Amino acid sequence: TTRLSFILLSILYSVFGYLDRIIAGFLYEDFFIIRFFIVVPLLLLVLVLSFTKNFKKYWQILIFFSYLIAALGIVVMIVQLPQESFYSNGMMLIFLAGSIFIKLRFLWSFIAGWLSIIVYILLAVFVFNNNFDLIIINVFFFVGATLIGMFASYSIELSARRNFELFLQLDQKNIEIEQVNSTLELKVKKRTNSLDRKNNELRDEVLRRRVIEQELLQAKERAEQADKMKSTFLANMSHEIRTPMNGIIGFANLLSEAEDEKERQEFIDTIVSSGDHLLNLINEIMDLSKIEAGMIKIDIKSFQLNELTKEIYNMFIVDENIVNKDIELKYINGHEDLEAFIKTDRMRLKQIFVNIVNNACKYTESGSIEFGYSIQESQLKFYVKDTGIGISQDQQEIIFDRYAQVSLTNEFINNRVGLGLAITKTYLKMMGGSIIVKSKLGVGSEFTITLPIEVNNLSKV
Ligand code: ADP
Repeated sequence: TTRLSFILLSILYSVFGYLDRIIAGFLYEDFFIIRFFIVVPLLLLVLVLSFTKNFKKYWQILIFFSYLIAALGIVVMIVQLPQESFYSNGMMLIFLAGSIFIKLRFLWSFIAGWLSIIVYILLAVFVFNNNFDLIIINVFFFVGATLIGMFASYSIELSARRNFELFLQLDQKNIEIEQVNSTLELKVKKRTNSLDRKNNELRDEVLRRRVIEQELLQAKERAEQADKMKSTFLANMSHEIRTPMNGIIGFANLLSEAEDEKERQEFIDTIVSSGDHLLNLINEIMDLSKIEAGMIKIDIKSFQLNELTKEIYNMFIVDENIVNKDIELKYINGHEDLEAFIKTDRMRLKQIFVNIVNNACKYTESGSIEFGYSIQESQLKFYVKDTGIGISQDQQEIIFDRYAQVSLTNEFINNRVGLGLAITKTYLKMMGGSIIVKSKLGVGSEFTITLPIEVNNLSKV
């Protein structure tokens, strides 16, 4: 706007040159020189300087001087041409008020205005002896114009300063808002992050709970299954107990009615075998209950394994199955007596061996039964081979399972399914061992147990 005002001012100043031509007469040349050789070049110089780097530092001074010189130029014209005062005065008025136009500040416009008036008075009174009334009139107009210009620049400057303050405050506020915005953004980001984390945790938790729920459901199903099996087991066991009981009570009642001594003896034999059967069953149930109640303790001691196999052989060689049927019973020790010391629970081991050998005797009609052992790398392997009736594939899968056995078909139950193998397997499990069976229906079976043991005095092993 300053540049624009300088261009306009230069044009105006030049255009007034035309009026000089009409009015100035013989003074036209002087006016021409003032106008086009001093004032207009000066105004254009300010315009050119406005493009320099440091213009902002001295622009008011420059404007001030150009303004003052332009004003003085007019003053010179006025005092030289007092009879055409309306022309020169009009120019002066326009010019004085023009200080606002070129943005001359209050202080500078004040100095320039009053300086021009003083110079006018001095020149008019002392140099050119103008008419006194004219001077007074002109001074009045000039003072009025100067005052208007001064106050106008003052109020413009004041409002510019206020605006500047307001802009400063606005900038400050903008900065604060930006800061608040950025902290807000940061907070939102943090919140979002923590929400994301929480979300992930929740998702994990949901997954974990789902897994737990599934496990619980499975556990519930297992518990229900076990409960059902236990009920069946109990029902079957009471049936199992009732059968030999009926035998005992029935034949005891018949005893007095026996026709002869032979029949009486038969009844007594039946009562005794039913009694044995019952006792055996009760013992097995007791064993199972003890296992379930956690009352069975493993008692590890060192002993001679060959003595145990011999004991078992001696026990079964007189067994009624072996004596009455055409079966050969034999055993093979894996080691010499001196080398066959092992450390484990002897009583449990014997119970396990007896169960398996006893089964072989029970379920073999003819042929042979062989048992024996071997020791390899702190592992005892005990086997029992028979040429008995064999076990079907289906049965092989369940004979070690104490609850599953008794929930089988009636036919199987009526064949009297005991708990011997289930107990055997449980004992072995407690001692860290295992049992497997290989069998073919009508050909025979082979049971093998594997048990970790401590070996003593076994030089060969
Ligand atoms: P129990 O012999 O008193 O019925 P066990 O638990 O000892 O009970 O045996 C479970 C079942 O496994 C037996 O009923 C029988 O059908 C089968 N079994 C076990 N040993 C043999 C064997 N050596 N030969 C054929 N079947 C066998």
